Amino acid sequence: MSGAMDEAKVGVYVCHCGGNISDVVDVKAVAAELGKHPQVAISKEFAFMCSDAGQKLVIEDIKSGKINRVVVAACSPALHELTFRKALQRADLNPYLYEHVNIREQVSWVHKGDHDAATRKATSLTRAGVEKILRQDRLESIHVGAAKRVLIVGGGPAGLKAALDSAARGLKVTLVEKSGRLGGHLHEFDTVYPGGQSASELLGKLLSAVSANPAITVVLGAEVKTWDGFVGNFKAVLSTGDAVNAGAVIMATGYRHTAPSAGEYRFGKDDRVITLPALIEQMKAAPRGPLTRGGRAVRSVAFIHCVGSRQIEGVHAPQEDGKVNDYCSRVCCTAALHTINALKERQSDLAIYDLYRDIRTYGRGHEAIYEQASKNGVLFFRFTEEAQPEIRESSVVVKDVLTWNQEVELPADLVVLVTGVKPGEVAELTAMMKLPTGSDRFLQEAHPKLRPVEVANNGFFLAGACQAPMDLVESAAAAGAAASKVAAVLSKDFITLDPYVARVDAEKCTGCEACLPECAYTGALFMNGSKKAEVNAALCKGCGACVAVCEPRALDLAGWSLDQMEAMVDAMASEVAP
Ligand SMILES: Cc1cc2nc3c(=O)[nH]c(=O)nc-3n(C[C@H](O)[C@H](O)[C@H](O)COP(=O)(O)OP(=O)(O)OC[C@H]3O[C@@H](n4cnc5c(N)ncnc54)[C@H](O)[C@@H]3O)c2cc1C
Repeated sequence: MSGAMDEAKVGVYVCHCGGNISDVVDVKAVAAELGKHPQVAISKEFAFMCSDAGQKLVIEDIKSGKINRVVVAACSPALHELTFRKALQRADLNPYLYEHVNIREQVSWVHKGDHDAATRKATSLTRAGVEKILRQDRLESIHVGAAKRVLIVGGGPAGLKAALDSAARGLKVTLVEKSGRLGGHLHEFDTVYPGGQSASELLGKLLSAVSANPAITVVLGAEVKTWDGFVGNFKAVLSTGDAVNAGAVIMATGYRHTAPSAGEYRFGKDDRVITLPALIEQMKAAPRGPLTRGGRAVRSVAFIHCVGSRQIEGVHAPQEDGKVNDYCSRVCCTAALHTINALKERQSDLAIYDLYRDIRTYGRGHEAIYEQASKNGVLFFRFTEEAQPEIRESSVVVKDVLTWNQEVELPADLVVLVTGVKPGEVAELTAMMKLPTGSDRFLQEAHPKLRPVEVANNGFFLAGACQAPMDLVESAAAAGAAASKVAAVLSKDFITLDPYVARVDAEKCTGCEACLPECAYTGALFMNGSKKAEVNAALCKGCGACVAVCEPRALDLAGWSLDQMEAMVDAMASEVAP
């Protein structure tokens, strides 16, 4: 037991989480059991530890000198670990003398059927937390310098908005766009929902604001080719040869249209069958007059929704990676209805049939577009995934759920497949930057509610449709949020990082180099001039891979040392009788 432990006085606080925990776990029994530990000076339970009143309990106990280390047994640390660290700081205690034990997600929510076992597990985990914090050093945060430049990858509407908002916050911006022009998919549209604004006017405004802004450097026809560094000091080499040193990165790589699979709804075999983006392109190229196909006037059009979205394994052909797109692409329903209304405006006698599984017009003003289509005389037919519409010589046949599966044959000079969206082609880039993606392959945020535009990797942020199917309003909101998050990170002269990184006891290091090949983070671990392992704390992610192979135990993880882990395991393995 270290000298620090002799004087350690731990405060344990068990949270009811308003019944979320206490309906299952006997929180009084947990607090009473922990109170028996010789180095636990205070053990309490409280309704909501995260509330002001809960935090005040901790602060007052620290300030009165009764405790100098804190364990809160409550929800997931992802939610409130930081809340309590800040509370310790407000009480002038080192914020890392704090341990957050998760007895909600890991106990009460998963052991609802066995209250006694749940109480034993909560006691055991909290006791492990006490043993861990007793062996905790007074760690200090790591400070690294911050380059006041943000690298934005992708120059679509989201990238453009993120660039303008970042520049408005005093940051320099490098905007990298892989195609030869800025604007992304906005180029494809004539007018955009919900307001029917001209897409070219909207794009024109964004482009002129970007080109007039001296803080924004645009690099066209470029991709990130090599990647290095850490938050505050990323280094990218572009395919153009330019090198960018940026403190943070906003990913704005957008989406791609899904293509129907070969033969799906006779696509590629019947030239009456086209996709929604192809129809939009045709309408943009010839904005007035009746619609034609192959030189002939079109008098009837059938739209079929959910092509390439909400796919079902075993029913639909998989995408290139062998997986189906089982998610809803969200934007395509409103995009189709907006296009339908535009068609009706130019050709009121056009017969339009809308064949859907479900319709999702979720945004502000989108439902009005649906209603307008109805008023415009569009006929809606609902089908199920088991009975998909059939394309015939000059018609479409659908089993209509709304009329108890009556088979209806509809004339169709043109069939429009309302295709979905999938993420941009970024697999190589995300592998290089080690960015997480979801099961839908879109880039993954750290937490959908608490950190919606941040990536778990420090210094990375998300804007627009690279994260999920989004319309322009949502993409702009995400871009604005990402820019303000970047500004918060880069506003100071240095960035503060958690100290949970590998550290080396030079006396124990034999210089065997077994640790080097285990390190996945370039530059984080190296041999110094004295042939001893050395850690670059800014690059180390604290994964512990090097610790696991270090036979002389020269390497350890600050805040998660082997001693701490052994003590936690012992505590959990010991008999607990609440
Ligand atoms: C058929 C259809 C119609 C739509 N109509 C509307 C509408 O009317 N109203 C509306 O609000 N929304 C509409 N949307 C949604 C709209 O298109 C998106 O909200 C918007 O394009 C998202 O912008 P973004 O910048 O995130 O992505 P994108 O527009 O996809 O732009 C991404 C940019 O990143 C670039 N890029 C990709 N990878 C890299 C890389 N590795 N390096 C550098 N650059 C890269 C791309 O070249 C592109 O320029 C529609 C969507 C569809 C499918």
